[in-house]
Amino acid sequence: MCGIVGYIGKRNAVTVLLNGLQRLEYRGYDSAGLSIIEDGNLLTFKKQGKVKELIKVLEGKEFKANIGIAHTRWATHGEPSDINAHPHHDNSGNIAIVHNGIIENYASLKQMLISKGYKFVSATDTEVLAVLIGYFYEKVKDLEEAVRTALTEVQGTFGLAVLSTYEPNKIIAARRGSPMIVGLGEEEFIVASDASAIIQYTRQVIYLSDNEMVTLNNENYYTKTIDNIRTNNIVHLVDFDLSKIEKGGFEHFMLKEIFEQPQTIRDACRGRLIVEEGIARLGGLLPVLDKLREVDRIIITGCGTSWHAGLVGEYLIENLCEIPVEVEYASEFRYRNPILRKNDIVIAISQSGETADTLAAVQEAKQKNATVLGIVNVVGSSIARQTDAGVYIHAGPEIGVASTKAFTSQLVVLTLISLLLGRMRNLSKIEGIRIARGIKELPEKVEKILEKADQIKEIAREFKYSRNFLYLGRGYNFPVALEGALKLKEISYIHAEGYPSAEMKHGPIALIDENMPVVFIAPKDEIYDKVISNIEEVRSRKGRVIAIATENDETITRYAERVIYIPDTLPMLTPILTVIPLQLLAYYIAVELGCNVDQPRNLAKSVTVE
Ligand code: GLU
Repeated sequence: MCGIVGYIGKRNAVTVLLNGLQRLEYRGYDSAGLSIIEDGNLLTFKKQGKVKELIKVLEGKEFKANIGIAHTRWATHGEPSDINAHPHHDNSGNIAIVHNGIIENYASLKQMLISKGYKFVSATDTEVLAVLIGYFYEKVKDLEEAVRTALTEVQGTFGLAVLSTYEPNKIIAARRGSPMIVGLGEEEFIVASDASAIIQYTRQVIYLSDNEMVTLNNENYYTKTIDNIRTNNIVHLVDFDLSKIEKGGFEHFMLKEIFEQPQTIRDACRGRLIVEEGIARLGGLLPVLDKLREVDRIIITGCGTSWHAGLVGEYLIENLCEIPVEVEYASEFRYRNPILRKNDIVIAISQSGETADTLAAVQEAKQKNATVLGIVNVVGSSIARQTDAGVYIHAGPEIGVASTKAFTSQLVVLTLISLLLGRMRNLSKIEGIRIARGIKELPEKVEKILEKADQIKEIAREFKYSRNFLYLGRGYNFPVALEGALKLKEISYIHAEGYPSAEMKHGPIALIDENMPVVFIAPKDEIYDKVISNIEEVRSRKGRVIAIATENDETITRYAERVIYIPDTLPMLTPILTVIPLQLLAYYIAVELGCNVDQPRNLAKSVTVE
């Protein structure tokens, strides 16, 4: 989620680095910094806040350095501050490092280094790695070998770049779990976490693999594994069209964003889930912890997809925390006279943080002296600023108008909040651990569902001419039925309705005939048998059933014409999985029908009008 850029060549490094940081800014929000080597000295400048704050620090200064590394941070360890901003140094002050990711065993490494007399100035995990590299450099007197040895000692994830006056014409970069790309220019190299920082200078790039490192000097580069085996990399040609780059090779932003979900789910939990304790740590809620302890009732408010996430939140919070929850459309909340009592808390959910109705609901709640929390994607947005506290979902920019990755990240954050509140109340540690483990396994499970894209595309082809769809689910998956129907409506203009499965017989059943596809969300949970009965009711009226079911559920094949399987998980986590096939189904139907998926008619991404 944060950005790295490094430059070695003939240009003014500071110009290239600042340019790159600005392009990468959407990836990291809280601080920025750079290191260069000028006249043999390592100079580092870093500042809390946006890149423009760093630019202010540099204003009026003249630099001629041709080598440097830079970073935009999204803090995981240590609050956003000037000191915690990257680059970080080793104890000699001769080595600088920028890092994306988390060094999981930083505490034991730090302990070891402290016991040997090393000192630390920041609260970050990254500084531990910087000091560790310095420690090994003292032994081996070779920068690349020092970096390599240090990386064999660390657990966790990194994309990193290292600069040192010991070997002043060299940048070393490496990756494990966090992207690193090397742009190959004419007598210059740009290393970055994202192609958008590179394409201005060159189209030729290599992508580092996990556990691979690259050494760059003015003339050439070479790569090797962290285990010291030389590697060869294919040079790729990046398409120069910036918008295409931003789509990461996907045909549409929506598809790209659907496929980003394993990563965005990881990002939503990053640094927040303490599995072995069965708890969630949400820094953004620290100012209101006392209020959360005393809360009597929660009102969740939002619009569209965010409102659906809120409905899942209601089930989660009532089940795990035994706190009564109400979910309200923000547009309704703002114009009625909502009753808010002393210990009520309002949670506003909005991807953009600018949704006019939700913002007005926030203002109304504040007017009534309620404590208001935000679950927002865009950092620094109006809702983020006007709420008392909140949790960012950190899903990255969502450009597709139909929300996908923001929804699953909202669900993850709501689950984390439920875990936090639940553990303050009656939720046991064992249950907390079970939930935390379940959350941690979600990204891999989402990946498995994404592998089924071709099967879902086939189903889309078969059903694309249907003029109506019904989506049915129960319990945690009732809101998913609403969300599945909304996705289809938004981008394919097919009429679709979501209902609680059992509610169907009170009306919508009248619509069912051989032309009506009915999408049942039927994971194996405590109400599975009831859903099967509902499927039977549809079948006996010739409705065409598409089921989302748990893998290895063979019974369902007797009832459904088409089955899309999802991996098994805890019932409360199923919405994060069951919604994925529904996003893909809507997407492929819209593409089959030739609709403009990313800019559906009449819709806008962030609804800033009433
Ligand atoms: N874990 C590092 C930190 O907190 C890097 C965070 C990032 O990826 O920006 O400073």
